[in-house]
Amino acid sequence: MSDTTTPATAPRQRIQRRSRLVHRHPDPHVRFMSKWVEDEVTGCWIWQGSLNDAGYGRFAHDGRSNLAHRYSYQYFNGEIPDGASVCHSCDTPACCNPAHLWLGSQADNMRDASQKGRLPTGSRRYRGTPEHIVHLIRQLHDQGLRQKDVAARAGVCVGTVYRITSGLRHRETY
Ligand SMILES: [Zn+2]
Repeated sequence: MSDTTTPATAPRQRIQRRSRLVHRHPDPHVRFMSKWVEDEVTGCWIWQGSLNDAGYGRFAHDGRSNLAHRYSYQYFNGEIPDGASVCHSCDTPACCNPAHLWLGSQADNMRDASQKGRLPTGSRRYRGTPEHIVHLIRQLHDQGLRQKDVAARAGVCVGTVYRITSGLRHRETY
């Protein structure tokens, strides 16, 4: 395939041109709504901006940095009490769909993460069928994300993203 040497270059440039205005939009909520892509299978809103080390989306607004899922919870669901955590029912840290977020104490969040195997490694394994993961990888790739960023969101290694997006798909290597 001709696009394997410069993966995603063309769609990425196209997206940046199209969304430059929205990325500078003075209303933070307009910017927020432009920074995720809905996973068609799970309904997760997968954050397209930068992620922190734990895999949560970062979203700066009103002169301060915040986490995308916490912004989403506050905007759509209501205030977050002091000391409370916003947890994911979908176990996808990069998701910022308010319908997938619930309010818990810090202890709840740690317990939840531990039960789901997210501690202590901070693993970002995406929970879906192989077909679903392949679909998600293609969807994110088509949005113009770099292979490294697609891999972080789908919870697979960069080599898997490369094989899938370049058509050399190996089903057994997830
Ligand atoms: Zn979700």
